[in-house]
Amino acid sequence: MSEKGITKRSENYSQWYLDVIERAELAENSSVKGCMVIKPYGYAIWENIQKELDRRIKESGHSNAYFPLFIPKSFLSKEAEHVKGFAKECAVVTHYRLKESEDGKGVVVDEDAKLEDELIVRPTSETIMYDTFSRWISSWRDLPLKINQWANIVRWEKRTRPFLRTTEFLWQEGHTVFPTDEESKKEVMDMLKMYTDFAREYLAMETISGKKSESEKFAGAVDTYGVEAMMQDGKGLQFGTSHDLGQDVAKAFNIMYTDKDGGRKYPWQNSWGVSTRMMGALVMSHSDDNGLVLPPNIAPMKVVVIPIFTDAEKESVLTVCNRIKDELGEMAYLDDRDFVSPGYKFNEWEKKGVPIRLELGPRDISSNSCVLVRRDTLEKINCPMDNIKSVTLDLLNEIQDNLLAKSKELLISKTHNVTTYEEFKEAIKGGKGFIKASWCGNPKCEEAIKSETKATTRCLTEDGVGVSGKCIYCNKESTDKWTFAISY
Ligand SMILES: [Zn+2]
Repeated sequence: MSEKGITKRSENYSQWYLDVIERAELAENSSVKGCMVIKPYGYAIWENIQKELDRRIKESGHSNAYFPLFIPKSFLSKEAEHVKGFAKECAVVTHYRLKESEDGKGVVVDEDAKLEDELIVRPTSETIMYDTFSRWISSWRDLPLKINQWANIVRWEKRTRPFLRTTEFLWQEGHTVFPTDEESKKEVMDMLKMYTDFAREYLAMETISGKKSESEKFAGAVDTYGVEAMMQDGKGLQFGTSHDLGQDVAKAFNIMYTDKDGGRKYPWQNSWGVSTRMMGALVMSHSDDNGLVLPPNIAPMKVVVIPIFTDAEKESVLTVCNRIKDELGEMAYLDDRDFVSPGYKFNEWEKKGVPIRLELGPRDISSNSCVLVRRDTLEKINCPMDNIKSVTLDLLNEIQDNLLAKSKELLISKTHNVTTYEEFKEAIKGGKGFIKASWCGNPKCEEAIKSETKATTRCLTEDGVGVSGKCIYCNKESTDKWTFAISY
């Protein structure tokens, strides 16, 4: 319970983000550098994300499974491109035992317990899963194989930020195998759409999506598609990816099946995932200078009932509050603590982003009404007590819609079309945002733009495909209009 304030976005956006997370009690730094503790309130939000995504994943025919946390080092040697992408951030297990130190004051690594084949703490599970898939798949009858895993991942990060970049994070990773390229590519796009739909319908976030450039794609993939959201400071944030893996991984891990015609064939594969990074995107999308703002669909508690009373009125007010809480059901939480003031509670729940605050005191009771306060607009509404449930449900829908509308507005207002490099640099200097510009596809132009402006290609959205023009950097013919941004 903190009474500390929150830094204003206009003063220091990065500090504002950290303050919102701390004051809403979502997460905190741990004693392990780069690793965070997700606190109960933050974890409840993640569980809601998980629950809805899991439902959608299963509904589209995937099954959950679990694979080991450790990956033999030799597996990472099988796919050269793949390992190149992760080698620099792998945690390696070299020993399996500790012993008492000679001075008896602690423990040291037992040098006699050295592992022959060192183990990697999973930076992603392609290798361990595909080694397994090679034993699961032998005939066309075994396809398609559609597996999803919820797990923790370790990628050693030098600079970390809660949810956005942590050494250990949580995610889901889908891995599917199909007999044809066409079916596999369809899955890549279907799952990308699942993520954008989820973001829109659940997190009230409007996003863009599309193919990543060669330099930005997943190591070892034929193509990577990303989902990108626009943050209030004008930076892009990628929170979901879907990879077309082609047949290379099947060849590397010897995944083959006997087709109906008796021929031995390599199948086509893909993988897709979202992580706790999504929490960072959620926080940055909607929150304001007063703290966290949560869309009702994802909020662990949608309505907080706050009684206002003196000692003499306590019992009668609480009786009515309990009745309202029962009427509203599981979406409501009654904060009946009598050792903090109502004002303290208002402040606390505001920082935690609860969509609706319901205030109720003796005067409200005598007029058979209560006060509803919207977290998104801070608007106060006097509401008759009759039909409180339907009024509240309507208001929750309105808040959800309003947040999505605001997210759309932000995305549109921060998307700029430019035709020259001067305009491009001006847009970056101004409010940043998504900048649509012609790029010839040469990685040298992309690299130069990045080093001069810090902006990278985010993706090639569908409406940019086939839009010809002149590359903003080299002026050569370009066939597509790419979306650039400075990103998290
Ligand atoms: Zn160029």
